[in-house]
Amino acid sequence: MRFLLATNNRHKHREMTSICSPHEVLLPEDFGIHFEFEETGDTFFANSFGKARALLHLFSTRVDRDTADRIDAVIADDSGISVDALNGAPGVYSARFGMSEAGELLSQEEQNNLLLEKLNGVTDRAAHYTCNMTAALPSDRFVSVQETWLGTIASKPTQADGGFGYDPIFLLQGTSTYAAELTAQEKHRVSHRGKATRSLIAALAAMSRE
Ligand code: IMP
Repeated sequence: MRFLLATNNRHKHREMTSICSPHEVLLPEDFGIHFEFEETGDTFFANSFGKARALLHLFSTRVDRDTADRIDAVIADDSGISVDALNGAPGVYSARFGMSEAGELLSQEEQNNLLLEKLNGVTDRAAHYTCNMTAALPSDRFVSVQETWLGTIASKPTQADGGFGYDPIFLLQGTSTYAAELTAQEKHRVSHRGKATRSLIAALAAMSRE
């Protein structure tokens, strides 16, 4: 299958290309399309569904029929980390965690340090990543899946440089292994994004047989 991924983020594209292999993952820019989407939803589902639907609409109005037929589905995701002791925060707002009132974003390192600060002295450090992934098909059909990856927040960051985002402070459940210590392949096997992508592809394959 050939997918159009609703992102301009090269890191996400690389990760999805590897998880979806042997299926092909293209970007809006491959079709000369500039795609921006403001994530205003208060659930992962609302953002991923809205993003997939918006790109499908844009794509079908910007390319000719033959080009549109080259794509089996538009795929979008929304993800984040939820911490039990913070009532699920930062959750759907993970990318904006700690943003100033003027709208200035913290660096990822600053976000990780802020999360550690908020958990200073807290013993319940349970947390989970969530990934919601939606496929929008040109035939006006949609499929959306949501997966999680359970773990705990460490007491200090690791220097290991695998993964991205909150991975330097995320420990795999019941272990002292940081997500940032996993190879890309190891992470895909167990991560929220790896599981969601595999479920989505299985659902699309089943739909294409119907
Ligand atoms: P999105 O690009 O809107 O889905 O934002 C995802 C946010 O959650 C970013 O702040 C990421 O750093 C964080 N995030 C999502 N998935 C992961 C992951 O697998 N590892 C680390 N951080 C993640």
